[in-house]
Amino acid sequence: MNHIIVGTAGHVDHGKTLLTLRLTGVDTDRLPEEKRRGMTIELGFVPLQLANGQRLGLIDVPGHERFVKTMLAGAAGMDMALLVVAADEGVMPQTKEHLNILHLLGIDKGVLVITKADLVEEDWLELIEEQVRELVSGTTLAKAPLATVSALTGQGIDELNNLLSQVAAQVPPKPSGGHPRLPIDRVFSKVGFGTVVTGTLWQGLLTVGQTVQVWPDGREARVRGLQVHGCQVEQALAGQRTAVNVSGLPVGALPRGGWLAAPKLLRERWRLDVELRLLKDAKPLSQRCRLRLHHGTAEVLCRLQLLDREELLPKERCLCQLLLEKPLPPLRGDKLILRSYSPMTVVGAATVLDANPARHKRYRAEVLLEMERHLRVDTGGILLNILEREGLLNNATALAQETQLPQGEIEPLLQGFEADGKLIALFIDGEAHYAHPAKFAEWRACLHKELIEYHRKFPLRSGLPLATARAQYFPLLSQKQLAALIERWSGEGFFSMQDGWLACADFAPLPSAEQQIWLKLIETDHAANLLNPPEWAEEMERLKIPEADQPELLLWMCEQGILIKVTEGLCFHAQAICEARDKLAPFKGAEGFTLAQARDAWASSRKYALPLLEYFDRQKITKRIGEKRILL
Ligand code: GDP
Ligand code: MG
Repeated sequence: MNHIIVGTAGHVDHGKTLLTLRLTGVDTDRLPEEKRRGMTIELGFVPLQLANGQRLGLIDVPGHERFVKTMLAGAAGMDMALLVVAADEGVMPQTKEHLNILHLLGIDKGVLVITKADLVEEDWLELIEEQVRELVSGTTLAKAPLATVSALTGQGIDELNNLLSQVAAQVPPKPSGGHPRLPIDRVFSKVGFGTVVTGTLWQGLLTVGQTVQVWPDGREARVRGLQVHGCQVEQALAGQRTAVNVSGLPVGALPRGGWLAAPKLLRERWRLDVELRLLKDAKPLSQRCRLRLHHGTAEVLCRLQLLDREELLPKERCLCQLLLEKPLPPLRGDKLILRSYSPMTVVGAATVLDANPARHKRYRAEVLLEMERHLRVDTGGILLNILEREGLLNNATALAQETQLPQGEIEPLLQGFEADGKLIALFIDGEAHYAHPAKFAEWRACLHKELIEYHRKFPLRSGLPLATARAQYFPLLSQKQLAALIERWSGEGFFSMQDGWLACADFAPLPSAEQQIWLKLIETDHAANLLNPPEWAEEMERLKIPEADQPELLLWMCEQGILIKVTEGLCFHAQAICEARDKLAPFKGAEGFTLAQARDAWASSRKYALPLLEYFDRQKITKRIGEKRILL
């Protein structure tokens, strides 16, 4: 079934609400009261039963500013418009602005309604009719049918009802399936339910039980229940006004302007390449001007970065960049509405060509060409483009999310590209993850360079811990992805991986000549004072060893098994450990021995004996029982 939503538009007091009441029997001005009583979750939303039996959803939002916001938020949800003009006043500023918004959002189904016909003479009505026709000419509603009515007397209402069913029949079914995305317009908590979020499902399918991620918060939650138009449902479809009951999230985590979406679908974007169109009655926009950008239920300020001119004139279109003052999570192809900073009037709309572009230099032909190409590229081109610029490894699921294309369409393309050598595939748990060869080589070269530098800095270390490599260079890859990548690169002879250490294939840790001398001196000192070894810090100072080398030498000596670190700042020669243990042999038995006895046996002092015994306890060579220890 096609769920069709009709929205009223028009100047304040032109009769939208009375017309809604006439058509539906519901007074939307009184809905706030009902809402307070908990009857309706959606302000201004009422079912509209047509004479032919079809049921539409009608939204009548009070107030101009609210109207604008609701229109923009519900943009993807509104299928049809009722553009209402009062016969006695004719076209007014808000009539124009609402029409502009409908036009910019591409809403091309609707009915033009001249109401309050009871207030004027016949010939006046004809004038207004002409005025309205002229107003809509050149817009998406140019071909919309027109009805003349009086909500007060009921004149023309049957005809309007008829026109509504005719237009509703032309609304194409919405694409269903895919990853859900819902801009949050309201959130509240309901006793016995928990947190409820409302909004229009922009795309995809939302199902009870599924996991969604909150943007920007990032937390995940489970969908506990769904309501569409006040009814409990198992699934909500694209375009439906939906109330989502989410579990485990406080109201504060879900601000208006945020999103509920399939996990990992949305990313923070600060810069957008767009195709921008300016309305014919807007003022020119100059380079760097500040604009209000509307996306979903969010409004953020942005600056206009014109790339091929200093000024955009009314009715013109251009390719440009928007620099956001706060991030948004749009996807390629999303519609954005722009309002001027002050006064807040709608000036134009933009379509996102690239949600993750580079910062462009101005007046560069190649930049504009590339953007034009983005406008036209085919699916395959889009995929290669994304893989060439973004993240290193992407599976078909991630790419489907990123491109908004069906996974079934993407998979054969990717396989074809791999066969042609245009993409590289790595298989992880049987699933292909793709990389662009250029990107692949670039990252490998980058890692290689970093590792060479790392080995130069730390010649005594076996390599870079894999976890550090991931955190530093590949934060977007999963552990498995990085492991697969390293395995592949190791197979190609670039790197080696041993015990979690990542190194260049030809690297082996080797002390420098100077370090070898220090190692020798340190070892000699420790060997000469087996049970009374020098403290590490003092030793370092005495031998004048540079600070940077100190931890490296320590690590090396411990790894090589020359020294044993017994406690912070105190190491024993490996031989000392054996000797100390041998000297405890006479105390074998249940009798045990005291700290003082051990100290005397070692001809040492408490300072050394205590940490050494504690080390033995940890190594399970001894066990402490009260004041005594026994040998295990
Ligand atoms: P809205 O701001 O567009 O929702 O306008 P309302 O529906 O609230 O109507 C504004 C005023 O116009 C109210 O006083 C209505 O009673 C009146 N009105 C609305 N439609 C008609 C109509 O068809 N004929 C007459 N005479 N008055 C109307
Ligand atoms: Mg009203």
